[in-house]
Amino acid sequence: MRILIVEDNARMAELIAGGLSDRGYACDVAGDLGAAEDSLASAHFDLILLDLGLPDGNGLDWLRRSNRRALPPVIVLTARTSLEDRVDGLDAGADDYLPKPFEMSELAARVRAILRRPGTRAEPVIEVGELRFDAASHTAHAGEVRLDLSRREANLFELLMRRAGQVVRRAQIEEALYTFDEAVTPNAIEANVSRLRRKLEDAGTLNRLHTIRGVGYLLSEA
Ligand code: CA
Repeated sequence: MRILIVEDNARMAELIAGGLSDRGYACDVAGDLGAAEDSLASAHFDLILLDLGLPDGNGLDWLRRSNRRALPPVIVLTARTSLEDRVDGLDAGADDYLPKPFEMSELAARVRAILRRPGTRAEPVIEVGELRFDAASHTAHAGEVRLDLSRREANLFELLMRRAGQVVRRAQIEEALYTFDEAVTPNAIEANVSRLRRKLEDAGTLNRLHTIRGVGYLLSEA
């Protein structure tokens, strides 16, 4: 799951990105609305966290102007907390509204709740045969065996599980697993796939993770 944090306060953005990264999300930060639009044009995001007072405009005006259906769900983060402000925010198309200051655990809970909603891509628990991924707790199982996965391996596993039976292109994996700031070496994705495959085999599963040479990877459904 990849989250775009639109926040001009660098310290705040860093705290949010740190807290959400620890919980397994890939986070990018945009310091203003222009940067947010650039990011949205060049990668897929599952959720936007939107500050309202931004150097090049107001987040709510931007939300009203935007083609809402082209955007992922939006949680507005703001110090403006009157009832009227909240109603304005939801009217403008925000999915949720979280007043600052907030606790990281509350933000994380709101993020999970939004990503669980029907219609968003995220289902809470994905099952493919004996494999299971719980998106809320970021835990993976093969039958009864809990898989000990790194953040990237877990994100890779989730992506392949969601598209089981389909080839997932390397570029899609790169986009889902790495933020703009992270350099992706040519072998990085392959190394993650190899580690994940080994862990699946160690857990006693059949080899379901196939390399489609020159294209990407496929997790077979059976
Ligand atoms: Ca601000």
